[in-house]
Amino acid sequence: MHNDLKEIYKTLGISDEVAKFGEEILTGLKERFEKIDEIAEINQLKVLAALQKNQVSEACLHGTSGYGYNDMGREKLEAVYADIFHTEDALVRPQITCGTHALALALMSNLRPGDELMSPVGKPYDTLEEVIGIRPSKGSLAEYGVSYKQVDLLPDGGFDWDGIKAAIGPKTKLCTIQRSKGYQTRHTLGVEEIGELIKFIKSVKSDVICMVDNCYGEFVETIEPSDVGADMVVGSLIKNPGGGLAPIGGYIAGKKECVENAAYRLTSPGLGKEVGASLGILQSFYQGLFLSPTVTACALKSAIFGACVYEKLGFSVLPNSTEERHDIIQAITFGRADAVEAFCRGIQAAAPIDSHVTPIPWDMPGYDAPVIMAAGAFVSGSSIELSADGPIKPPYAVYFQGGLTWPHGKFGILKSLQSLVDNGIVLW
Ligand SMILES: *Cc1c(COP(=O)(O)O)cnc(C)c1O
Repeated sequence: MHNDLKEIYKTLGISDEVAKFGEEILTGLKERFEKIDEIAEINQLKVLAALQKNQVSEACLHGTSGYGYNDMGREKLEAVYADIFHTEDALVRPQITCGTHALALALMSNLRPGDELMSPVGKPYDTLEEVIGIRPSKGSLAEYGVSYKQVDLLPDGGFDWDGIKAAIGPKTKLCTIQRSKGYQTRHTLGVEEIGELIKFIKSVKSDVICMVDNCYGEFVETIEPSDVGADMVVGSLIKNPGGGLAPIGGYIAGKKECVENAAYRLTSPGLGKEVGASLGILQSFYQGLFLSPTVTACALKSAIFGACVYEKLGFSVLPNSTEERHDIIQAITFGRADAVEAFCRGIQAAAPIDSHVTPIPWDMPGYDAPVIMAAGAFVSGSSIELSADGPIKPPYAVYFQGGLTWPHGKFGILKSLQSLVDNGIVLW
């Protein structure tokens, strides 16, 4: 390793042994990283082409106030998203407050009383349980007379084709397909795999709307679920497509009718996409989208580096060090609470913001065990930025994601390892 770098690491609390271990791991990752750079290049050009095609101009970066009629920047941004995802239309708004809101909006606007929602990939993300009414909640889909069916993945992770076919009935209106594993132990679905699933669903009932929860998946591959038949793709702007710059927001891209339904629900029947002032937020949306392909690539490199480091040390990691990636989340199972806490302290200590604070486990609403979270982010709660969290319960796993730049993601992993070494958990 370069001597200067070694010295800099030392001043930042990384011992020679830890730095050297990291460099050894990295020598094996050259080809892997080149592949990621190739994907980033293709996606960068895809974004650039969409910006140019829509003739985005300087005036588009300034927002409107009040009703927001004729907000050119907002309209062009939505056209840019539609071009990137190859969809008929898109809704991209700061008024969509988070990923859960975007998903709830897509579901609630496209389902009517008497319809049935189906998940062919098992339990959806935790926060959707109340949206659907799996856990009773005010205003849930269940309260409005929308029923729900779920078909779990098979023990080997594959789709339960027979179960899915049997679950699709005359009432089935919409299938929700979650791309990322989220905080489950299943694998993340590849885009091709999602394509096969959608093709099958449509072969059973052609008019079922197929919606994909695209959170954490954007720009990880060169195609998106909307390229393989999804009628709607939905995600959060404080994850991949916001590029770390968007301070809020969500998107729904898809068929014109699906997007229109969502717009009518977000604002009002009749008003739809015509209102919704963008205020001063559009520059961050445009610039974040422009940066997103390379930011996502940096988060992927950080995840793979983390997988390799901790797999080499004997811990179980998901995905493993060699698996193909379909999202930016890395799970590491430590099997002991003190290791989860030490890991998160290391990530926090690597942060640009709040690096001086110590994360401790706390009883978060909605969780059945204390959760520890490490996040020193420019945008509160942003998980495209370097962050980690884990519930303090068996199997004592942490979920690690993000890193706006690769050098920062690398540093975060080294800090986490140093913390495990300093606490006597990893012994050389
Ligand atoms: C983050 C996430 C959500 C919800 O997004 P929030 O912005 O936290 O509400 C939904 N699904 C998946 C797979 C996610 O990763």
